[in-house]
Amino acid sequence: MKARATQLSGLNSGLFGVVGRSISYSLSPAIFRKAFDALGWPAAYAIFDLESAQLPRFVAAAADAGISGFNVTKPYKVSIIRSLDRIDGDADAVGAVNTVVRRGNRWVGFNTDIDGVEHSLVPFRRNLAGESAVILGAGGAARAVAVALAVRTGMREITFAVRSLPKGRSLVRDLTRGCHTDCRLCVCALTPSSLNERLGDASLLVNATPVGGAGVAKRSPLPRGARIHPATVVFDLVYRPRRTRLLADAAAGGCRKLVNGWGMLVAQAEASFFLWTGKRFPDRLRRELMAMETSR
Ligand code: NAP
Repeated sequence: MKARATQLSGLNSGLFGVVGRSISYSLSPAIFRKAFDALGWPAAYAIFDLESAQLPRFVAAAADAGISGFNVTKPYKVSIIRSLDRIDGDADAVGAVNTVVRRGNRWVGFNTDIDGVEHSLVPFRRNLAGESAVILGAGGAARAVAVALAVRTGMREITFAVRSLPKGRSLVRDLTRGCHTDCRLCVCALTPSSLNERLGDASLLVNATPVGGAGVAKRSPLPRGARIHPATVVFDLVYRPRRTRLLADAAAGGCRKLVNGWGMLVAQAEASFFLWTGKRFPDRLRRELMAMETSR
């Protein structure tokens, strides 16, 4: 992680939390409470379920309320930026923030989803550098994946397969402006013919849509007729269910390099924790969190 960590002063206590809307399902409190417990720090981690009009007031009052840092989730990863004092370079390239850190009297925004993606793909790094990828989706997670692949993994070409071409083109314009890399960024329609043109020589396919997760668990984000080459690394950001329809279909088609979103979830949390505390998760905790994947 390139970013400088914050060392908490005094008692190593503090109040942390996650800001979002309708996020009672969030796993972050369970993860961070375990993390603070593992270090023996008397810090608390809360859910701040806010309406969008409350967001600027929340940030303005957070320091007085004793908050040392917080995560940001749906739907505020982009809109939070207006309320912060500074944005880290990678988060600026993504155009979204998922971690906010108190530095002196300023609130600084970071994006640790990039770290989560990078971490998840470490076993395949050598297969991916200089190669091409297809990302399904054009939302906040797709942006973080693209920055991780272009800047950290050294991929040559990324195609966003999207249901709205104007949105996809605008995403490519934003990333081209913000992300200083030689990686070529393209857009295609989420149709079998467009996808098959790209998937033939893609080394990596990433699902950055919610399709396959809660409420749509039986569905694949790939349209019928789209074919994945067996050598492709298939990475589904969805982490519940553990084996999504996309991963199951890929396995049935002969793909062996399959990654789900759980490792990314844990790694992005660890990167946030490091920014707040200057500490990594102890190995035992990391193992325990990874094991939670199978117990759910
Ligand atoms: P988002 O900003 O809402 O973007 C979702 C994207 O998916 C949009 O581009 C949307 O298309 C597209 N999409 C939604 N439904 C679709 C459908 N039926 N068919 C095709 N495309 C569809 O969400 P996000 O924050 O990027 O998150 C995306 C997924 O990644 C979620 O499942 C989230 O839980 C997961 N995620 C996982 C981690 C992790 O740590 N594992 C971290 C971040 C996110 P439009 O642009 O046309 O609306």
